[in-house]
Amino acid sequence: MKVKYKETEVVPKKSFGQNFLTDDNILRKIVAEARLSPTDNVLEIGPGFGALTKHIAAFVSRFTAVELDKNLAQFIRTEFANVDLIEGDVLDLSLVSLANGKPLKVLGNIPYAITSPILFKLLDERAHISEAILLMQEEVARRLSAAPRTKEYGILAVQLQAFAKVEYCFKVGKHVFKPQPTVNSAVVRLSFQPAFSHVSNILESSFRVLVRRAFAMRRKTLENNLKLYYDLSGIDFNFKRRAEELSVSEFVHLAELLYHLR
Ligand code: SAH
Repeated sequence: MKVKYKETEVVPKKSFGQNFLTDDNILRKIVAEARLSPTDNVLEIGPGFGALTKHIAAFVSRFTAVELDKNLAQFIRTEFANVDLIEGDVLDLSLVSLANGKPLKVLGNIPYAITSPILFKLLDERAHISEAILLMQEEVARRLSAAPRTKEYGILAVQLQAFAKVEYCFKVGKHVFKPQPTVNSAVVRLSFQPAFSHVSNILESSFRVLVRRAFAMRRKTLENNLKLYYDLSGIDFNFKRRAEELSVSEFVHLAELLYHLR
C-alpha cells in the first residue's frame, strides 16, 4: 500500500508508526485541546504529511517539528516554510535548547512503538514543557489516566500523575487513519506546570525507583515487593496492601517515610 500526497509518495513504515490522520474535524479537535496562542513555543512530533501541522499553523506562525523519515522531512520543508524542521529522532532532541526559556507545548500523533520512551522523555524534561497533547493507543491513554484499584493502574499512571496533571480527552477510532492501525487511539493532555507536581526534587529519583519496585509483582503485597530493598520495621504504614490499592499521594507519603524525609 502506498500513501501519496502531492508529489510525495511513501510506503507507510510500520516501524515508524506511520498511520496518517485523514479527518479534519478530528485534527481540529486535537489542536483545540492545546488552546494555542500566536506566541506559543510549539514542538510537533512526527508531522508526517503535515495533517496536524497545517492546523497548528493556523494558530502559530512559526514552530518546530521533528521527523525521522527523510522523505517526509523533505516534504515538510517544502510545504511549510514557517516550520523549523529537525530531521531526526525525537528521543535525541534536547528540549532545553528548543525551549530556550519558553516552555514548549508539545503536540503529536506519535509513533505508537515508542509511546513509553516518549512519555518518559517528556517527564524527564518537563521543566521545559508546559503541556503535551498526544494521540496514542487508547489502551495506553487509559493506563496513563487510570485510577487506583483498576487493572489499568500501574507504573505509568503513578509516575505520570505524580508529576503532571493527566487528562484523557477523547477517543479516536481507527477508521480516520490511513493505513488503519489495529487498535483504537485517544488524545491525552499532560500538564507539566510545577503546581501539578506532587513530588519534591530531592525525592524524585527515589520516588521513581520505589514505584517500579512496588509494582514489580502486581499480585504480591507491598511488603513482599519492598522488603528486599527497605527496612520496613518501625515504619507506620500498612504494607499488607498491593501497590494498585495506593493513591498517588499515598505513594508520595510512602516514599517520604522510606527515605526518612518525614
Ligand atoms: N502527524 C502525522 C503523522 C503521524 S504518524 C499525521 O497525523 O498524519 C507518526 C509520524 O512520526 C510519522 O511521520 C513517522 O515518520 C514519525 N516518526 C516515527 N518515529 C519517529 C521518531 N523517532 N522521531 C520523530 N518522528 C518519528
